[in-house]
Formats: sequence, C-alpha cells, structure tokens
Amino acid sequence: MQTSNCGYGLVKQLVSQKKENELKQCFSLILQDLLSDRFDAYFFSKKCCHVKAQIEFQFTVHASGVMHQEEYDAYLKLFKNAIHDLPDHIKLLKQPTRTLFFAKTDIHPLGGLIITNKAHKEGKVILTDKEEGLILHLLDVYFLQMQLLHNSSIDPLSQLLNRQSFEQKLTEIMHSEGRYQQKKIDQEQNWFLAILDIDHFKQVNDTFGHVIGDEVIVLVSQLLKSHFRFDDLLFRYGGEEFAILFMTDNSDQAWKVLDRARELIANTRFPQVSNVTMSIGFIQVGDDYQLSELVNKADMALYFSKDNGRNQVSDYQQLNIVQQAVSGSDIELF
Ligand code: GH3
Ligand code: MG
Ligand code: MG
Repeated sequence: MQTSNCGYGLVKQLVSQKKENELKQCFSLILQDLLSDRFDAYFFSKKCCHVKAQIEFQFTVHASGVMHQEEYDAYLKLFKNAIHDLPDHIKLLKQPTRTLFFAKTDIHPLGGLIITNKAHKEGKVILTDKEEGLILHLLDVYFLQMQLLHNSSIDPLSQLLNRQSFEQKLTEIMHSEGRYQQKKIDQEQNWFLAILDIDHFKQVNDTFGHVIGDEVIVLVSQLLKSHFRFDDLLFRYGGEEFAILFMTDNSDQAWKVLDRARELIANTRFPQVSNVTMSIGFIQVGDDYQLSELVNKADMALYFSKDNGRNQVSDYQQLNIVQQAVSGSDIELF
C-alpha cells in the first residue's frame, strides 16, 4: 500500500495557508490508499471559497475511463435530489451497483463520493464495513476542513471573499494553478483585475450614520454578486472598496461587463441614501507585472476614474495611451 504524506501536521498547515487544491490532492491520495483498485470512485463537491453552492466533480480515483457527460449529469441529479431528504450530516446510501456517500450542512449539499465495483459493474458493490466506516470518517474530516477553510476566507459583512484570500487567488491565477489553468487552456480567455470604490462614501456615513453605511456596503455586494458570473471572484478589498477577478475575451468586453455593473449600482435606489455610484479601474492579468504592480496599476486606473468625475470605468491600458499622448504633445510643445 502506498502511503500518503498527509498527516495531521500537513493538513493543519494547508488549512492555515488556505491551500484548497493541495487539501483536495491530499484527500485524493488518502482515498486512493483506502480503496483498492477494485473500485471506481467519483468524488464531487461544492466549489470552495465561493458563496454560491454549485456542485462539480473534482476527481476520479482508479477510474477505468473518462466519465460520459450523461453519466455525470445523472450522478449530479441523483445527488441533488437525494441530499435534502437525508437526515444526517454524512449519509451512506447502498444501491445494487454502487455505494453513495453524501455530505451536507443543514440543508446545503457539500459533496459526495460514488463508488462502483470495477470487476462486477452489474453486481453488488462490496465494500467491507471497515472500509465504509473509514470512508465515512474521512469524508467527515475532509468536509469539516473545507468548511473551516471556506469560512476563513469570507468577509462577514458582505459575504464576499475577504482581503486575505485576494492575494492567494491572484497568485494562483498569475501562476495558472489548479482550476484556473484548466479554464485558461479550454476557453482562451483572459483574466482581468478590477478595483471598485464607492464614491463619496464618507458623506453617506456623515449624513446617515455608519449603520446605513454598512447597509450600502451589503447591498452593493449583493448587486455585484448578482451581476457577475459564478466563476468570477469577488472580494471586499477594504472598507468600501471591492476587487473582482473575472475572465472575458478582451479589454473591450471587460470594460462592458464592468460598465454594466457600474450602471446597475447607479440605477438602484438605495433605502434612505437613494443614489450611490462607484468608480472602477481595471487591468488585464498577465505575466508582465508582479502582483503588487498589478494592483497598483488597477488602482491608478481607479484614481483616473475618480479624477475624471467618478461613476465611470477606466482601463489601465487605455490610460497609458492617454498619458503617452499627453507626454507626446508636451514634447512637441517644448
Ligand atoms: P471617494 O469618492 O474619493 O472614494 O470618496 P470617499 O468619501 O468614498 O473616500 P474614501 O474612499 O477615502 O472613504 C472611505 C470611507 O469609508 C471612510 C470610512 O469612514 C468609510 N468606511 C470604511 N469602511 C467602512 C465600513 O465598514 N462601514 C462603514 N459604514 N463605513 C466604512
Ligand atoms: Mg470611496
Ligand atoms: Mg475608499
């Protein structure tokens, strides 16, 4: 039996460093050790560090082939239908050709594991009681760890990702790690970083008080969440500042996506405060800059929006062109 390098110390370290991908790999290794190659095992879970609960397949263990789309959809449907009726936090379900393990918190599905017997596809899945018990225990530990990790990356007021997870996510994207790499290859889209800041927010606090100010932050967060896609990453970057990491084809598209978000906020009637606007700056995420440079440049674009009347979106690349044009005309003048 191959041994997994996944002791308590390592897991603790991964959780403290918020390394979800490594934690998944660790879990996968233990599962491989636990299950002999008699079985196909399909594991799926809620995407971590994300507010919406979407279930996706993460990996297969000892699988003999690629899972077909219909098979994948059927498993997912089965899981979604079954999960709400299960009384326990983790539940085992035995069917003639497979054994299913489901995990949930309250009513929310977390994920599960489907095990089929490779040699006897039509026959019974024969997991020993000991194997079943160990798998149940392992899933329990894994989901608790993932929840811990998830909770530690969420900002309690806005329910968006917090500042601490921003650097980690941006680093992963810049180095194309984990699921970010897969997406990039599949879709040939680019990542963009936007920084958004509420305009004249001090006035909101001064006029209506901090409680109303907080409500504005919450409503803005909800509007942004409703506007952006599931795969986009939304952060509360500071007090009334937000950062968004999202994918799209090019800068023109990125500008349009952000301008629609700006418009949505500007056209929403906020209780008491009435109108709120935001200024936005963005930049394409590439290999050219260090992380801090990238953030500074997105910030420069944001300040450009502020200086030019607020309630607008600026692209750092265009900013450069504008600045070059200005310095070019300076040279001609003098
Ligand atoms: P600008 O258009 O230049 O951004 O003007 P501004 O007044 O929004 O200026 P700035 O962004 O510098 O001010 C941020 C203010 O947001 C200062 C602080 O009082 C307030 N603030 C920061 N965090 C919170 C929070 O969590 N809740 C509330 N209610 N206010 C906050
Ligand atoms: Mg502001
Ligand atoms: Mg600010």
